[in-house]
Formats: sequence, C-alpha cells, structure tokens
Amino acid sequence: MSQRKRTEIAELGEFGLIDHLTRNATTSSKHTLRGVGDDAAVVAAGRNDATVISTDTLLEGIDFDLTYFPLKHLGYKAVVVGVSDILAMNALPEQVMISIGVSAKLPVEALEDLYEGVDFACKELGVDLVGGDTTASMTGLVINITAIGRAKRKALSYRSGAQFNDLICLTGNLGAAYLGLQLLEREKRVLKDVANPEPQFAGYEYLLQRYLKPRARKDIVDILAEEKIVPTSMIDISDGLASEVLQICKASKCGARIYLDRIPIAKQTTALAEEMHIDPVVAALNGGGDYELLFTVPLAMQEQVMRLGVVDVVGHITRETTGAYLVTPDGSDIKLRAQGFKEE
Ligand code: ADP
Ligand code: MG
Repeated sequence: MSQRKRTEIAELGEFGLIDHLTRNATTSSKHTLRGVGDDAAVVAAGRNDATVISTDTLLEGIDFDLTYFPLKHLGYKAVVVGVSDILAMNALPEQVMISIGVSAKLPVEALEDLYEGVDFACKELGVDLVGGDTTASMTGLVINITAIGRAKRKALSYRSGAQFNDLICLTGNLGAAYLGLQLLEREKRVLKDVANPEPQFAGYEYLLQRYLKPRARKDIVDILAEEKIVPTSMIDISDGLASEVLQICKASKCGARIYLDRIPIAKQTTALAEEMHIDPVVAALNGGGDYELLFTVPLAMQEQVMRLGVVDVVGHITRETTGAYLVTPDGSDIKLRAQGFKEE
C-alpha cells in the first residue's frame, strides 16, 4: 500500500488550507445563493430577501488568554465577532447561537460572567440568543458563535463586487486592538512573578477597550441604509487591513492601491507603538481584531460618503494585473501581503 503524502499545514497557510478543504464544496440547492468565500453564507428567504449565516470559533490560548481577558468581556466579544461578519454583508443581525466547550477548571460563576457579556452584547445589538451546545473540553475554553442575519438580496454587499476605480472606504481606526493586546502581554510578562501585580495601563485604556471589548459597526450598516448606499463590496477587518484588501481583490478579481498616510490610526495607538518599538502602520495592516468595516463604492459617490463623517477613503480599486499595493508618502509602492494564522 502506498503511503499518503504528508503535507504540513504551514505549507498552505490559513487561506490556502480553507481553499484546499473546500475545493469540492459546490452548491446544489437553489436556495444557496453564496457558499464558502464571503464573510457569511447567503441563503434565499422568500423572493426578495436572504438569510446570512456565519460562524466563528474562539480558542483559549490561541484567541484569548484568560489570565487577563475578563469573561464578561469575552462573552461580549464573541457576539461582536459573529455579528461583525453579518454586518460585513450589509445585513442586519437577528439571532446568534453559542456553543461552548468548558474545562473543569472554570466554576459556574465564571460561565455566568461569560453569559452576562453575551446577554449585554445581544441586547445592545438587538439580537436573540436562540441556541447552542455545551460540551466538556479537555484543553481550554472553546467558544463557537453562529450569527444569523437578514437583508434584501439587492442590498447585500459581497466581497466580489468591487469595480475598477471604486473608492476603498474604511470606518474607525486600525491597529488599536493589536496594541491593546501587546500591552496586556507586556504587563503579563513583567508581572509574572510579582505577588500583588498592579499593571500599568494609565493613558492606554482606549487600546484595552478596543482589544477586550470591540464594537460591531451596526451603526454603519444603519447609516448606509438611511443614505441608500449599497457598497459594491464589503468585508470586516478581523485579520488586518492588508489581508482584507487582498480578500476583496481575490474575490473581485481586481487590484488596489492603499495610501499609507490615509490609514486612520488613533493617537494612543501611535504613542504605545512608539514606546514598544512597533510600527503602527504594520499594526494596522497586519494586527487585526479591530472589527471595523472596509467597503468600496463607485468614485461618483465620493462626496456622499465623505459627508457621512464616519469613513475615511484610504485608496481605490485598480486592475487585477496591477496587483495590490501600499503607497508610501514618498511615492514608493509596497506589495500587500496577507497574514492569516501563519506568517507567510
Ligand atoms: P472571516 O474572517 O470573515 O470569519 P474566514 O477567513 O474565517 O472568514 O473564512 C473565509 C471563508 O471560508 C468563509 O466563507 C468561511 O465560511 C469559509 N470557511 C472557513 N473555514 C472553513 C472550513 N473549515 N470549512 C468550510 N468553510 C470554511
Ligand atoms: Mg469577516
């Protein structure tokens, strides 16, 4: 019997692995409007509407560290992570399901805290917790969240709709969540052997909040609906600007130019980045965890989107053959690279 070839996951990277595993996932139901490849799957619901569904998993030790992540915040963040993918389709979230794998090291009270955060986020975002599953975990805490939303089919924004010359718009600022994480990790290292640790967070509360309690930008989807703007494409920033721009480029078969000096970065992000010898732009490009929305609109809508006062235009869409680049203030072009869960 011939031995099956062994391929290391690192050879494919996260996105290569997803592509590889889902290469046979063709869709056959006429109700499946979009399968793998976007922030959420899209299922027909009546003639004009669609249901959008997304799932995400958070693992202790990989996605969060319980030594500094309060469980209440973790519950809140889990809902935000799920709902953010629904919003990225320009849909409104309606329900979530949460499954947990719990290790015996956690008391019931800790899980009560987790669910206090879940309930808080659900009420804030107007979604119903409608189910889930509970199992034991041999390793650490596992949280899976499935989010469900709804939109008019015509109002959906896919990753694949960006057109040549479209403007690339971004909400909020980037890199703050990554710096918040770096700050928590630094204090954890410094205070490892201290009896009564008193971490130094003064002045950087905003960064901690961005990492521990990110916001889902439902406000943006509401504003876009009020203004009758349907982005030609949209994605949420879970992995970092570079990775998300590349996802849009791949799905839309286009290139992009992002202008470095237009990437919005908060003052506290820059301040801590300097202190920690981190390039804030690298944090924005590759840090991830900001859960802002990146979307494209036709060039003709420039004034209208600028008037909203909630987005920055950070670049524009180019031809596929020209690739995806970061343009520095001195005019040089740097090729954008994705990160995923493995450094590539
Ligand atoms: P996001 O960062 O928006 O959550 P991902 O990069 O995790 O999206 O996933 C990209 C696409 O691949 C999504 O459509 C997702 O549903 C799909 N996907 C990811 N992992 C798997 C898997 N193991 N099996 C099937 N589909 C997957
Ligand atoms: Mg997403």
